[in-house]
Amino acid sequence: MTDDCVFCRIAARSSPAEIAYEDDAVVAFRDIYPKAPVHLLIIPRRHIESLAHLERGDAELVGRCLHVARILGEQSGYAERGYRVSCNTGPEGGQVVYHLHFHFTAGRRR
Ligand code: AMP
Ligand code: ZN
Repeated sequence: MTDDCVFCRIAARSSPAEIAYEDDAVVAFRDIYPKAPVHLLIIPRRHIESLAHLERGDAELVGRCLHVARILGEQSGYAERGYRVSCNTGPEGGQVVYHLHFHFTAGRRR
């Protein structure tokens, strides 16, 4: 856990968030500034800065994050209609929070 990382604090439950899903490795919670009717963030509990910092051994953890997208699709009722999963990476990729996260958005065509 990195004390100065807001997403580490959310994963540790020391900062508030509306948690939609959690297990031993992955947490999903509502984005505070939603850009779609459903806007959740999926994070690994372990602090990884971004996709650009992934090690080969992190592949299973990333797979687990993506599997949580499937679970959120079913939980939110968008499994059939569909949803978007995206991952902003680095300054020119629009990343603001440097703890790996996948945006799960649904309910609006963009
Ligand atoms: P990104 O630009 O991909 O780094 O996106 C960071 C996202 O995190 C933005 O959509 C923010 O609205 C969201 N965010 C930042 N702080 C929090 C927080 N404390 N709780 C929930 N979402 C947050
Ligand atoms: Zn972190």
